[in-house]
Amino acid sequence: MPKTDYTPWYVLPQGKCQLSDFDTKPPAEGQASAKEFEEHLADMGEKLDKLQSTLHAAKTRGLLVVFQGMDTAGKDGVIRSVFTHVSPLGVRAEAFGVPTDLESRHDFLWRIHAKAPARGEMVIFNRSHYEDVLVTRVRGLIDEETCQQRYNHILHFESLLQDAGITVLKCYLHISKSEQKKRLQARLDDPRKHWKLQPSDFDDRDVWPEFTRAYEEALSATSTPESPWYVVPADSKPYRDSFVAGLIVQTLENMKLKTPKPTFDLSKVKLS
Ligand code: ADP
Repeated sequence: MPKTDYTPWYVLPQGKCQLSDFDTKPPAEGQASAKEFEEHLADMGEKLDKLQSTLHAAKTRGLLVVFQGMDTAGKDGVIRSVFTHVSPLGVRAEAFGVPTDLESRHDFLWRIHAKAPARGEMVIFNRSHYEDVLVTRVRGLIDEETCQQRYNHILHFESLLQDAGITVLKCYLHISKSEQKKRLQARLDDPRKHWKLQPSDFDDRDVWPEFTRAYEEALSATSTPESPWYVVPADSKPYRDSFVAGLIVQTLENMKLKTPKPTFDLSKVKLS
């Protein structure tokens, strides 16, 4: 079972994050049966549902959960598994692809800010502003100076959200290159999954070390106690889902949310 202490997977701010120091597989104590993971996920799902209702009612805080990872790391899968447990009211998922012509003529945070949560909302990002310091960097679309500037802009942006009551929780779904190979092969073998495949899924395997370095730097530069990055072991899907659900529950619990008091005297209500 995922532990409730997630600190071993927290990326130390301004540290030198090395992804090879983090296992892609569950730790020994995480080797539960699929059934146990399902039970844990259902348990966390129930808690998440209640916490999200309170978040929605209170409207004092918001939550942005960012998912990043190599292709096939499980961004779509984790969103489906974890958030099926919450009411669609007050929850929104946003995916970010290659910027449109209009988007690329704005600053890189323009399209991101427009989709950020309001207080009372929980928003999930499938890819995010981090693409602007990852794929852009690996593909040589930005230089080093621009990349450093963007880290600073990201820190300020997330701090702005924090000041507005929005917590940003960032999950890097960590898979091994061999697990990715299995997942790509499974997609090739299943015609129903062919639509998911892009040429870049295969090309990006050739620049795996470059992506790894870009992630290591971005995670180190932008993990803060208020907007932390966690490296989620993602080779096992049931473990990954339980881990993420537990982490979100803990983040919401730490907000100490309270349902608002009635705005009128309920004792005076007479039902006709
Ligand atoms: P996914 O691969 O997440 O299932 P898509 O097939 O729509 O989703 O791919 C999205 C693509 O958009 C990815 O290759 C990603 O790297 C790219 N992308 C996202 N944001 C940016 C960005 N800011 N600049 C360049 N490419 C981006």
